[in-house]
Amino acid sequence: MLLIRKSEKLSAEINFLKQQDKKIIFVPTMGNLHAGHKSLFKKHKEHIYLASIFVNPLQFNDIDDFKNYPRTIQKDIEILDKQNVDILYMPYKNFLNQKPHYNIGKISRKLCGKDRKGHFEGVAVVIIKFLRLINPDYILLGEKDYQQALIIKKIIKDFNFKTKAKIFPTVRDKNDVALSSRNQLLKKNFFLAKHLPKVLKQIMREIKKGEFNLIRIDHFKKLLKSKGIEKVFYLKILKEISLDELDEKPALCRVFISASINGIRLIDNMPIDRRIKLVDGNIICK
Ligand code: AMP
Repeated sequence: MLLIRKSEKLSAEINFLKQQDKKIIFVPTMGNLHAGHKSLFKKHKEHIYLASIFVNPLQFNDIDDFKNYPRTIQKDIEILDKQNVDILYMPYKNFLNQKPHYNIGKISRKLCGKDRKGHFEGVAVVIIKFLRLINPDYILLGEKDYQQALIIKKIIKDFNFKTKAKIFPTVRDKNDVALSSRNQLLKKNFFLAKHLPKVLKQIMREIKKGEFNLIRIDHFKKLLKSKGIEKVFYLKILKEISLDELDEKPALCRVFISASINGIRLIDNMPIDRRIKLVDGNIICK
């Protein structure tokens, strides 16, 4: 695996590969790699897999959160090597010297955008810079960060990048907890994280039975608190293409949650595999 730190070197390498008609598959990460990240690296022969590791300070609205973010570079390099990644790009901090300006629009103000001011704007800066530099054929993303994936798709469309975004299912542990680098920060309270997927699954079950009124959401928020979850930032059922609220038009939707345990913020979401609509507060399955 080729380790590259300077953008000029990466540009030269990419030009060389493109001259040979190689397809470039890009997997951006913040490192501290786990099985969720690994699931994005598929078996490959003819394509070039390019991973990046960059803990982007612009997307942390809390300096301690940025400082405490787990960094395990040596281990990550070993993992990427084993996954047959061809190039690892680890830019220096000055990667951010020039910041493109981009107005993401209303999708950045929903869900995590509400209480993490500037978070998605920070993500967008880095993704636009990566896409301009690499211009990959594909970018591979995890469904776990669903809102982020929607925003990256919008960036690709708005900037007319030729890149295609592919989104892969969330990898979970035996208790259905979505794997995340932040899980290890929960330490002895990790066991509480299982209540997030439990609630998402219960909501889906009730929706499918045709027994769900939006008022139930408050019940589940209270339930989570009674189990020891510190704060529920949101628990919402939204349309999956726009993150708009449900209405009378049947649409594919997802249940989204963000909650904190001991100051550590977690997110998760699950798709509802039927079209649903809202009539007088009741969710109706098509
Ligand atoms: P991160 O390092 O957290 O920025 O994540 C890098 C990529 O890995 C993103 O596209 C994430 O959505 C994806 N990812 C993170 N956790 C998981 C998971 N548990 N399952 C699948 N993909 C994941």
